[in-house]
Amino acid sequence: MSRVYNFSAGPAVLPEAVLKEAAAEMLDYRGTGMSVMEMSHRSKAYDDIIKAAESDLRDLLHIPDNYRVLFLQGGASQQFAMVPMNLMKNRAADYIITGQWAKKAYQEAGMYGQANAIASSEDRTFSYIPDCSDLPVSENADYVYICENNTIYGTKFWTLPDTKGKDLVADQSSCFLSEPVDVAKYGLIFAGAQKNVGPAGTVIVIAREDLIREDVLEGTPAMLRYKTHADAGSLYNTPPTYGIYICGKVFKWLKEMGGLEEMKKRNEKKAKLLYDFLDQSRLFKGTVEKKDRSLMNVPFITGDEALDALFVKESKAAGLENLKGHRTVGGMRASIYNAMPMEGVEKLVAFMDDFEKKRG
Ligand SMILES: *Cc1c(COP(=O)(O)O)cnc(C)c1O
Repeated sequence: MSRVYNFSAGPAVLPEAVLKEAAAEMLDYRGTGMSVMEMSHRSKAYDDIIKAAESDLRDLLHIPDNYRVLFLQGGASQQFAMVPMNLMKNRAADYIITGQWAKKAYQEAGMYGQANAIASSEDRTFSYIPDCSDLPVSENADYVYICENNTIYGTKFWTLPDTKGKDLVADQSSCFLSEPVDVAKYGLIFAGAQKNVGPAGTVIVIAREDLIREDVLEGTPAMLRYKTHADAGSLYNTPPTYGIYICGKVFKWLKEMGGLEEMKKRNEKKAKLLYDFLDQSRLFKGTVEKKDRSLMNVPFITGDEALDALFVKESKAAGLENLKGHRTVGGMRASIYNAMPMEGVEKLVAFMDDFEKKRG
C-alpha cells in the first residue's frame, strides 16, 4: 500500500492516525461486535461518541457556554439556506462577496429576504479581501455574512469585518480548527467537515443560543430549523453517525497534537515554505494579494496553460495528487489543511524547484 500526498481542496486529506484507528475499529467497535456504521444512534456506545465529539470540540475552540454545537447534514451548502431561514427576522442581511461560496450563500439568502452585497472583490477575480473597516451595514440587517477562508481563491479574512453591532455569520469550512478562534465574536459559525475535519455530508454549526429561535421564517421545514436539532442534541433524526465519529477522532487528534495554537504554528510554517518559494520563483507565482493569503489553500500559476497542465500531470506521477486549480482560476492549487504533513509541502516545493530548473 502506498499513500499519496493529497492536496485536494475537499474531500481532503485526513490524519493517518485517525484512519488507522477507524480501520482497526471497523468490524468491532470497542467490544460492541459491530461497526459504528451499523450502530443505533440511540445506543449508549453512540451517545458516548457524539458527546465526546462535542466536548472535545468545545475544549479545542473554548466555546462559551451560551453557544450550542450542532452536528447536521446537507454539507455547508445547506447552511446557505438554513442561515437566512432561521436568522432573517427582519428579512434582511448583508453579505460580503469574496468568492463563489459567498456568492452562492448570498443568492440563496435572496430567496428568503433582502440580501445586500455590501462589499465584493469580484472585480479582480476574488484575489483579495475587500476593506471591511467601514462597511455600509444596513440598519435592518439581521446579520453580516462572510466566507472566512475562500477555498477556491485562496484568500482569508485576517481581520474580521466591523459589523457595527450586527451578528457576524461565518462560513469557516476551509479554515475550521486551523487556528484558535474567538467564538464570542460570532453569532454563528458553520463548517462543512470534508475540508479540515472529516467525511463529507457532516456540517458543524456553532450558534449563540439566542439565534436558535422559535420564530423562524414561515414554511421552514422542521429539519431546517436549528431549534429542532438543538432541542434534540443533534439526534432529532439519524445524524451522519459515521461522519461525526470520524470528526470526533480528528478532534482528539488535534488535542493530542497540542491544540489549535500548535496547529496554527504548524500551518504557518507549512504555508511559509510554499509562499517563500513562490515569491522567489521565476516560473511560478501566487495569484492572491500577499496580505490576504490563506494558510490552507494556495493557488499558483506559471502563466502558461500548457505548462500548468504538464506540471499537474508530472506532479501526479510523483505522488503529489490533486494539484489542479479550480476551473475558475486555472493553474494549480495546493490545499495544505491540518492533516497535510510538513513533509508533503517539502516534497511539493522540491518538485516545483526541480520542475522550474528543467522547464523554466
Ligand atoms: C466546500 C465549501 C462549501 C460547500 O460545501 P458542501 O459540503 O459541498 O456543501 C461551502 N463553503 C466553503 C468555504 C467551502 O470550502
